[in-house]
Amino acid sequence: MRIVLLGPPGSGKGTQSQRLVERVGIPQISTGDLLRAAVSKGTELGRRAKEAMDSGRLVDDSLVLGMIRERLGEPDTRKGFILDGFPRNLAQAHALDHLLEALKQPLDAVVQLEVDYGELVRRISGRRTCADCGRVFNLLTSPPSGANLRCPVTGEPHRLVQRPDDNEATVSERLRVYDEKTRPLIDFYRARGLLRVIDAEGDLDAVTRRLAQVLGVPALRAVAKPKRPARRKAKRAAAPRKRPAARKKPASRAKATRQRASARKGGARRPKVARKKSAKRSRTRRG
Ligand code: AMP
Repeated sequence: MRIVLLGPPGSGKGTQSQRLVERVGIPQISTGDLLRAAVSKGTELGRRAKEAMDSGRLVDDSLVLGMIRERLGEPDTRKGFILDGFPRNLAQAHALDHLLEALKQPLDAVVQLEVDYGELVRRISGRRTCADCGRVFNLLTSPPSGANLRCPVTGEPHRLVQRPDDNEATVSERLRVYDEKTRPLIDFYRARGLLRVIDAEGDLDAVTRRLAQVLGVPALRAVAKPKRPARRKAKRAAAPRKRPAARKKPASRAKATRQRASARKGGARRPKVARKKSAKRSRTRRG
């Protein structure tokens, strides 16, 4: 499955991608995450991207495309991928088309996540990322809990940090850039018959279910439940194996003939002792 998640900042692309990754087992490719990693490593790419990112503008197409080309060339993308935050404008969408055509891996679907403007701002203000495992949480809508309470990398509670570009001034610029540059992709993909639209507001599990439905992924319906088949399998493996039922020995030919004859006379063969007794009795009667 090769899909693009399309939506403004705060629409839940990252969160829903991570949920798909866990359930479908294909990698999430987030250009934002790749760029942030480059910035924190201090690479040349990161250095060139940083200024645009800090001010909420798009990073140069040539930088992003080089990064995507490299990532889509890695072997784990052969079984599919979820593109999160890419493409961001028409030039990137055309470039992606050409790249996937060359790789003979066309897109299966583009899902647009629809969220009201006010809700986007509210969500972005609550968004936090674990500095160690990179998992995205929201203090208002999806704080760490249950199985996700501790970081899988450190084993400690998540170290939650706020992205530097999640501040009020940058957010409004990012939303403006989305409207101007990214929104036109909705028509672009609709014209290609790839667009699916879902309501991305409300309960997180409900949004995941809607996403699964438009992608035609039946295994995602019971998203909140643990994978039961795996548990049953483990239980089966732990339990001692039942011996197969012992097969009845086939009756010998002579025995089978005697049984048939007895059945013809109207009953099963009596035990030997009982037969002797009854023969004695009949002799007495006769005598
Ligand atoms: P995101 O994490 O997707 O919200 O991206 C954070 C920032 O990274 C954006 O505001 C842009 O500055 C930059 N960025 C991410 N993806 C792209 C892209 N496909 N094209 C250009 N800039 C991008």
